[in-house]
Amino acid sequence: MKHFYKQWPLLLVVVIFIPFQNGIGQKKNVVILATGGTIAGAAATGTQAGYTSGQVGIDTMINRVPGIQELANLKGEQISNVGSQDMSFDIMLKLAKRINELTSGGNVDGIVITHGTDTMEETAYFLNLTAKTDKPVVLVGSMRPSTAVSADGPLNLYNGVAIAADPRAQGRGVLVIMNDHIHAAHSLTKMSTTDVQTFMSPLRGLVGVVAYGKSDFYNMPPWKHTSESEFDVTGVTKLPRVDIIYADVDMSPDLIDDSVKDGAKGIVIAGVGNGNMTKAAVDACSRAVKQGVVVVRSSRVATGLVGRNVELNDDQLGFIASDELNPQKSRILLTLALLKQRPPADLQTLFMTY
Ligand code: ASP
Repeated sequence: MKHFYKQWPLLLVVVIFIPFQNGIGQKKNVVILATGGTIAGAAATGTQAGYTSGQVGIDTMINRVPGIQELANLKGEQISNVGSQDMSFDIMLKLAKRINELTSGGNVDGIVITHGTDTMEETAYFLNLTAKTDKPVVLVGSMRPSTAVSADGPLNLYNGVAIAADPRAQGRGVLVIMNDHIHAAHSLTKMSTTDVQTFMSPLRGLVGVVAYGKSDFYNMPPWKHTSESEFDVTGVTKLPRVDIIYADVDMSPDLIDDSVKDGAKGIVIAGVGNGNMTKAAVDACSRAVKQGVVVVRSSRVATGLVGRNVELNDDQLGFIASDELNPQKSRILLTLALLKQRPPADLQTLFMTY
C-alpha cells in the first residue's frame, strides 16, 4: 500500500499521457471535398419531388449537422457543385490529385467526398484506383435534397465523417457510406432510382454498418486498390475515350462501327446475360479489335460475373471478360488501363485483380 501511494504520479502519467501520445482521445483531422449532388440540392418546399442538385455550399452543409464538429476537426473545400449526371473525368482527376496532396502529409487523417448518387459508384471506383493512400477515403450522398422533410444527407455526412476519422476504415479502399451501410467501391451499385435504400453490393455484401457514428466492420475487400494500385494520374490531364454500348434483341452493329470511327480506344459491351450480343455485334466487335480497339464484355444484368470463353471464344476473338465489374466500372478501369499500351492477357488480369 505504501508503495502504491509513492507511485501514483507515475500511474497518472501512464493513464493520461500515453493514450494521448498514441492518438487515442485526440480528434482526427478530416477534410470534406464537396462536389454537389442531391445532398447539396434544394427545392422550394420540403415535400415536392422536383429539386435542383448542387445548390448548397459545403460550409452550410457542415453547419446543418448537429454534433458533427465533435467527431473530428473539419475543413471543407468546394471542388465543384454539380449534379453527378454532370460529373466528368476532369473533376475526378481534380479530386484524385487533391486527395493525394492532402493525404501525403501528416496533417490529414481522412477524407470525405460529398457526391451525387447517380454516378457515385464510378467516382468511388475511379478513386479506388487512383488515390495513393491507406487513409480512409469515403463518399457520401443522399437521395433527398437538403430541404426535404426527412432529408437523409445530414446523417449520411455525420456517419461519413465518423468513418473517415476511424483507423479501422484504413486499408479497405474507397468506401461509400449511405443509409447506415458501408460499401466497397468495387462492389456497390445503385439499385433504385428514388428509394433512400438505393445502394447494394449484390455479390460481395457490405463492408460494415454505421449508425449515428458507431460502426461495425465485417469485410476487408479483396481487390487491389489505392496505395497498391498501379494506376497513377500524376500529370494526366486527358483520358482516352471508352464507350459503353448496350446490347439488346436484334442489336445493330452500327453503334460499334461508329464508335470506332469516332475515335474510341475501348468499347465496353453491356451485354445480355453473360456478356452476350447478336452475331452481327460480335462481328463488329471483332472488326474493332483488328483495328486496335479493346473490347470488354460486361453485362446489363445487375448481378453475377461475366466469364471468359463461355458462349463466345474470347481467346480467338481477342475480347476481355469483365469478371465482376458492371459496364460503368469496366469503363473506368479500361479508361485508366489504356493510359499505357498493354497486351490483352495483361488487360484481362487487371479485370480479375482490381
Ligand atoms: N441526380 C442527382 C445526382 O446524382 C441524384 C442524387 O444525388 O441522388 O447528383
